[in-house]
Amino acid sequence: MKDCIFCKIINKQIPAKIVFENEDVVAFHDINPKAKVHVLIVPKEHREGLSALKKDDALSVGKLMVNIPAVAKQVNLKDFRVVINNGKEAGQTVFHLHVHLMSCDGLLA
Ligand code: 5GP
Ligand code: ZN
Repeated sequence: MKDCIFCKIINKQIPAKIVFENEDVVAFHDINPKAKVHVLIVPKEHREGLSALKKDDALSVGKLMVNIPAVAKQVNLKDFRVVINNGKEAGQTVFHLHVHLMSCDGLLA
């Protein structure tokens, strides 16, 4: 998606501290961390957010979810918090679906 900052990170057009990548997701450190460990997990397929999902997206969202423990392991988190902001009022600022993966000291993003 043109002009999407997370698509640009996925396509390596802008740099990010990537901690995990496979065919489905990319995970990288948040530029403005709200916990000691704060990583964003992003599906490679662009979706605006939870509200934009259709039934057909079940597989792609499932793949996003099942990759969370592998990313957590990569950044040495045994227990962790996960947040998805949906919509401006909820604090969503980047309109490419993403999971915030945070250590337990983190504020809810
Ligand atoms: P949201 O507010 O949409 O739930 O989360 C977006 C997150 O993306 C924020 O925590 C913000 O700090 C992070 N972010 C925004 N732009 C960039 C960027 O260019 N690189 C990285 N690594 N994180 C970003
Ligand atoms: Zn995107």
